[in-house]
Amino acid sequence: DPRIARISSAIRVIPNFPKPGILFQDITTLLLDTRAFRDTIDLFVERYRGRDISVVAGIEARGFIFGPPIALAIGAKFVPLRKPKKLPGEVISEEYSLEYGTDKIEMHVGAVQEGERALVIDDLIATGGTLCAAIKLLERVGADVLECACLIELAELKGRERLGEKPLFVLVNSA
Ligand code: 5GP
Repeated sequence: DPRIARISSAIRVIPNFPKPGILFQDITTLLLDTRAFRDTIDLFVERYRGRDISVVAGIEARGFIFGPPIALAIGAKFVPLRKPKKLPGEVISEEYSLEYGTDKIEMHVGAVQEGERALVIDDLIATGGTLCAAIKLLERVGADVLECACLIELAELKGRERLGEKPLFVLVNSA
């Protein structure tokens, strides 16, 4: 698809952010390119329209940028999966491991019902820990997670393997 090359080149790569040795994939430059931003949303919408998805769950923070326009276009609701202590209502939370230590994501109780068909969206998959925690949250309330979707996959980190059988759809591969 010719749209992929434009999307890929609109993502800026910043060395040594947030710490030395990390090559940060910066999607804010993609948001400045109206055509690339539009193409990104269109590619996801083309894939997920008509698949009876009732909920798009977006992971804080960049899943909040891409999730809502996709949700609106496919007629699904949007549910934010947030960092700890951000959601005001009753939450369930799922811990996951980072390179050093652990982190947590939370979801409002009642946001997703048993039997709902869910798509999880984030900007990037590295180790896959964040997406795994998101899948667990949704499955704990009885939702069926059809697929995870990201703009970028850092394939070297083998996050796809960590997801096991769960399908992962990405637009751009960054080795
Ligand atoms: P994982 O849990 O797969 O190791 O890490 C994925 C999470 O870290 C995602 O929520 C993603 O937003 C963030 N992340 C890690 N590295 C990068 C990066 O280089 N660029 C961006 N935009 N996000 C990153």
